[in-house]
Amino acid sequence: MTNLAQTPLSDRLRSLVDTVQHNERTLRRFQNVELRLIGAQDFASFLDTLFRHLPQEFSLASVTLWLDDRAPMLLELLEPGAMRALDQSGLKTSREGGLAAQGLCDEGRPWLGRPAQRDDAMCRAFFGDSAATASAILLPLAAGDIVSGYLCLGSDDPERFGEGLATDILERFASIVTASLDNVAHRERLKQLGMTDSLTGLANRRYFDERLREEIMRAARYSVPVACLFIDIDSFKRINDTYGHQTGDRALAAVAACVRQQVRLGDTVARYGGEEFAALLQGDRADALTVAERVRLAVERLVLQDDHGERIALTVSIGVAARTIGGAPAEAITYGRAMMEEADRAMYQAKRNGRNRIEALVKAGD
Ligand code: GH3
Ligand code: MG
Ligand code: MG
Repeated sequence: MTNLAQTPLSDRLRSLVDTVQHNERTLRRFQNVELRLIGAQDFASFLDTLFRHLPQEFSLASVTLWLDDRAPMLLELLEPGAMRALDQSGLKTSREGGLAAQGLCDEGRPWLGRPAQRDDAMCRAFFGDSAATASAILLPLAAGDIVSGYLCLGSDDPERFGEGLATDILERFASIVTASLDNVAHRERLKQLGMTDSLTGLANRRYFDERLREEIMRAARYSVPVACLFIDIDSFKRINDTYGHQTGDRALAAVAACVRQQVRLGDTVARYGGEEFAALLQGDRADALTVAERVRLAVERLVLQDDHGERIALTVSIGVAARTIGGAPAEAITYGRAMMEEADRAMYQAKRNGRNRIEALVKAGD
């Protein structure tokens, strides 16, 4: 018998395993950056992740973000303080730069190579005159046919970005950057309109009521169910009394983030009152009960520490209500209010029945 370990097949397998492991490591590192981008509460922290975290994680010499017309809007939306604190040299918005990037990225495909080797105006317009970047990849940030900007990653290594490099992982990353950028623009807009709560970063009650009306109308029009959760932190006064108001605030923000993570991106979560949250979900009562249980468990498992490293135990009580509305959507506001009131009453029932639990009223509308 030949020793299998000596055979070329085994070598090939090992190299395959190495490649798979290398790709897995790369994907995981991208995932870390992606999670930060997706979770960015404002444009400043979004840019901070791109310009500081990304180059560190992937040993890049430079990261440049070129933004289309919506950039002025974003700049306008930025808190001046946060913007000043940030080194923005990587943020570009010039029209020539955008046209150059468009020219380089043939039919929306990424461009990669050595900028210095292309002594043309297009390259200079995007990369500038200095050939500081030995090699680079230029990734269009596109949703459908609409290109909102370009992301450029530069390296000191002339071989790093060159022909033959598989770009699928980077293209996937670019699509996450695009979606996160959209999300952050939306967040900034909400902030400007006074629709967000500054402590938790969630939508506020005003925004929630607006969305509630819209969702009820939609549900009525398409005869689809709509549901809501009323979530109240248990014995929160005691948290404040025991650990102080500041730690209380931290706990509130942690619970908010936890709830947000348990619902779909399209669902609305708001800080409805002091230590109360509301979630608006697309789905029926059974769906809502499933989400509610996920939220309850996630909060129960949340690891939050006080200033001395002691774990702070947190739980929530949740009331659930759902509706399938037939007929005219004209009474959307009334229907919405009734559903929320029912969820609120169900939440109080959960309190009465011992807290850290979920209730839905027996004679629910759906
Ligand atoms: P229950 O389980 O019945 O809900 O008890 P509870 O203590 O959570 O309810 P209660 O309504 O008695 O107290 C709510 C507490 O939430 C009191 C208030 O000080 C606190 N709270 C409300 N808003 C904030 C906030 O923004 N930050 C902090 N730290 N506490 C808040
Ligand atoms: Mg309360
Ligand atoms: Mg409470």
